Amino acid sequence: MQFPNWLSQRAIQKKEAIALIFKSPNHPIAHWTYAQLETEVNRWVEHLQCLGIKSGDRVGLLLTNQPQYIILVHGLVKCEAVAVFLNIRLTVDELRWQLEDSQTKYLICDEFTQLIAHDLGSNIENLIVENCPHPLAPSPDGRGGAGRFSRSERRLGVDGLLNLEDIQGIFYTSGTTGKPKAVPLTYSNHFYSAIASTLNLGTYEDDNWLLCMPLFHVGGLAIAWRSVINGTAITLLPKFEEQEVLEAIANEKVTIISLVPTMLTRLLKHPHWQNLQNPRAILLGGAPASKELIEQCLQLNLPIMPTYGMTETASQVTTLLPHEVALKQGSSGLPLFGNRFRIVNLDDPQQEVPIGEVGQILVQGASVMNGYLHQLENNAVKNGWLYTGDLGYCDRDGYLYVVSRRSDLIISGGENIYPTEIESILLEHPAILEVCVVGISDREWGEVVAAVMVTREELSLDDVRSFCEQRSLARYKLPKSIHIWESLPKTASGKLLRQKIREHLDCSVDIPAEGG
Ligand code: ATP
Ligand code: MG
Repeated sequence: MQFPNWLSQRAIQKKEAIALIFKSPNHPIAHWTYAQLETEVNRWVEHLQCLGIKSGDRVGLLLTNQPQYIILVHGLVKCEAVAVFLNIRLTVDELRWQLEDSQTKYLICDEFTQLIAHDLGSNIENLIVENCPHPLAPSPDGRGGAGRFSRSERRLGVDGLLNLEDIQGIFYTSGTTGKPKAVPLTYSNHFYSAIASTLNLGTYEDDNWLLCMPLFHVGGLAIAWRSVINGTAITLLPKFEEQEVLEAIANEKVTIISLVPTMLTRLLKHPHWQNLQNPRAILLGGAPASKELIEQCLQLNLPIMPTYGMTETASQVTTLLPHEVALKQGSSGLPLFGNRFRIVNLDDPQQEVPIGEVGQILVQGASVMNGYLHQLENNAVKNGWLYTGDLGYCDRDGYLYVVSRRSDLIISGGENIYPTEIESILLEHPAILEVCVVGISDREWGEVVAAVMVTREELSLDDVRSFCEQRSLARYKLPKSIHIWESLPKTASGKLLRQKIREHLDCSVDIPAEGG
């Protein structure tokens, strides 16, 4: 099915509405209207086309969060090119692999990523955003520079159509469990994801969504699609930084914000955390939110909305509403409109498990990818259902509870142990700052529980075990060893790299297991 270009239509219908709020170094905050954003995008389209980018080309975006990122995403839509979203924190080797894997033809970088692009040294054509003939700069009135280029205000692509079934972009998963997987997402995936979010949250003329997550993750980019589809504003920050986020909430009248749980924990430690009481919704996703964090938010009356989703589903597929958080603690909510999930037996996915029992989560809906790139015969989508590899259960009212990833499950003496259950208890210990529980091989039990942690002070295995026992943790779940590290390895989005930690413990004999 064909659709009028989303941005172009908004630029006609909501010409004067604010589309993009951002700050460039040494300039006042700029507030661009939809008409200005469209003009700027069209100017770039001309440039991209002059450089030879044509329909079907795959164009890598190796960029930090900045207005040009949003402009280029819309520009590539108008060129009918496929955007390849690259994580700027990857190593040169990892990036080289992704560029080959995605068959990227052009690479667009910025002043911060230029060096990496140079090191890639491939035969891909590099473009640098600074080299666009009319660099972006907000005018002194802070209204943005777009209006000054009226000569290039050709109605380029304005009458363009986009084909819902076409691939908009190739996204890579976070690489938490191994090599990132390439996920092609269509316009249709993004469209239905945005509509489902809007049906859940409602939309207001003055909505302004704070975007402080990297745009190369679908959780960041999805905010840009929702806003253009709703004709509302986004406030774009270069990165997550507590002071900047809290200031932007207050100064720009942010109404919705998306965060991963570790970001919210950090914001709550800031002296101006009260600003978090202004937005009407704080979406939390990407990783489990600890019991401690949820309780703190409930006490402070913050409108949090825990969500569950992944790259393969173009962002959230289930969401818990703020007024349900107290009643359904630990849940990620109900499926968004048009989505559904099933919980199936781990060994026999044809069998659904009874209510309350843990199994693998399968998801179906219009925002779910058709399949991974290149892995068509071994794909995670079968008969329209995505096999998420996550474990969870469903309660009597149909609410989802995510328990763990299947690959993180510890099986000790035939018993299933979910690391997050033990981690949330350990995090209640005042001396434990961060923790990761993994299973390590054991001749007698198959696997045993090990806890790797960052602590404020020395801790012994006995201290840890008796703390867990006091909180009624079953004996077979008690850690058999503890390992105190200075920091825990994480992905760019702040997720624990459990596999790495597990491999490290499994092959190392010389890590001191304090007290154990
Ligand atoms: P990779 O697939 O490369 O190992 P990844 O799965 O971390 O990386 P993403 O697509 O960014 O890549 O993350 C989605 C995953 O994050 C989900 O499959 C799930 O494991 C986890 N996740 C998301 N939301 C929640 C939640 N509310 N509770 C627990 N886990 C969650
Ligand atoms: Mg995954």
